[in-house]
Parts: sequence; C-alpha cells; structure tokens
Amino acid sequence: MTEGSTHSVKFTERDKDDFFNNLGQLYILKRTNAGQPYDRRQLLLIFTNMKCMKTTQEGKNQYGNGITKSGISMMFMANNDIRPHQEIPHEIMHGAGLPHSFKETTEKDKAKTHIFKQGSTDNYMDYNNEAKRKHLWHWQWDKLYKSRYAK
Ligand SMILES: [Zn+2]
Repeated sequence: MTEGSTHSVKFTERDKDDFFNNLGQLYILKRTNAGQPYDRRQLLLIFTNMKCMKTTQEGKNQYGNGITKSGISMMFMANNDIRPHQEIPHEIMHGAGLPHSFKETTEKDKAKTHIFKQGSTDNYMDYNNEAKRKHLWHWQWDKLYKSRYAK
C-alpha cells in the first residue's frame, strides 16, 4: 500500500491481496501463540480510523469504505462518505461469500446467481442505492446460512 494524504492509504487489487494474506497469517500466528488455534468459522472484522482510496477500473480515485478477502473485512471509518449501518453488513456478507448484485469482471460474475443493473435494487449487495438499501434476497440468506461462518 502507498500512503496518500495524512492517515490515509491508497491500494491496488494486488496490494489488497498481499495485505490480507499478511494480515490473515498474522492473526493465525497470534491466535496460535495465545493457545487459541484459528477456527475457520471465524470472520475477522477490523475497524480503522484511517481513510482509504482505491482506483476504479476507469482509473478514477474514489473512497474504499470497506475491503474484504477470504473471511477478513476491514472498514475505513474516517472516509468522508461512509454509511456504517449499510456498509458494515455489506462487508460482512462479502466475507461470508456474497458477491455484488451487479455486473463486474467476467471472473467475479462467475460466482453470481443473478445479475442486476447497478443501483436498480434495494439490496445490501448493490451499489448506488444508498437511499433504499435494506434487503437481501432469499437465495442470499440461503448462501449465508450454508456458509462456514453460520455453523
Ligand atoms: Zn462490495
């Protein structure tokens, strides 16, 4: 990660992978050293008072309020436009395996059961729907209940 302005970070997808791999290994090591072996059913949620910027596919900089990979989610609570009551559940559900509801890269879209136009739903996993984001679909609940974190 490269440092942006004071108390902020800017990342690429490669940075995100490296960061979460290192963070995951550090967490497992800390748990093991404390005599509390890592449990695969744990979803790690980290809050920081830093800001975070990411670069979009179009090359624009925008706030990244939450990032998630493989059961670890991090929330950047100092970002200017963060909505914790919507974005914390969004990131936790990413951590448990739910994808966005809209079209993204071919690789990401493989994991999706349905694809909707971005901003057209009231679903927690949509973007640009902040005024109405408050629901999950039945298949999403099923996937959450079947995830290793709900056992
Ligand atoms: Zn998301």
